[in-house]
Amino acid sequence: MSFEEDDGQSGYVSELLEGGYLQGPEIGAANAFIKDEELSQAQQNVFDNFVLRKHDPGACKRCRNGIDWPEKYEAKHNGGFCGRCANVIHKADQDD
Ligand SMILES: [Zn+2]
Repeated sequence: MSFEEDDGQSGYVSELLEGGYLQGPEIGAANAFIKDEELSQAQQNVFDNFVLRKHDPGACKRCRNGIDWPEKYEAKHNGGFCGRCANVIHKADQDD
């Protein structure tokens, strides 16, 4: 994985790290990924199964579409909504 083909995934992983979501081996695997280092098989397993899967907010709870990497961290804090739905909901709240 190089930063040329980065789609926001490394930014998301950095946010998980800085937000204190990761622990133990997850931190090492996340750091290696962010620094574009070669992950060992064990690190890759931790990265795929814990860093990514365990912390993934899943599909948007409103429109059911997948949430892009740059919006995932936000989704973890807004109840699991993609950026567009979060905007719509936020606007609706203000109208009340
Ligand atoms: Zn949505």
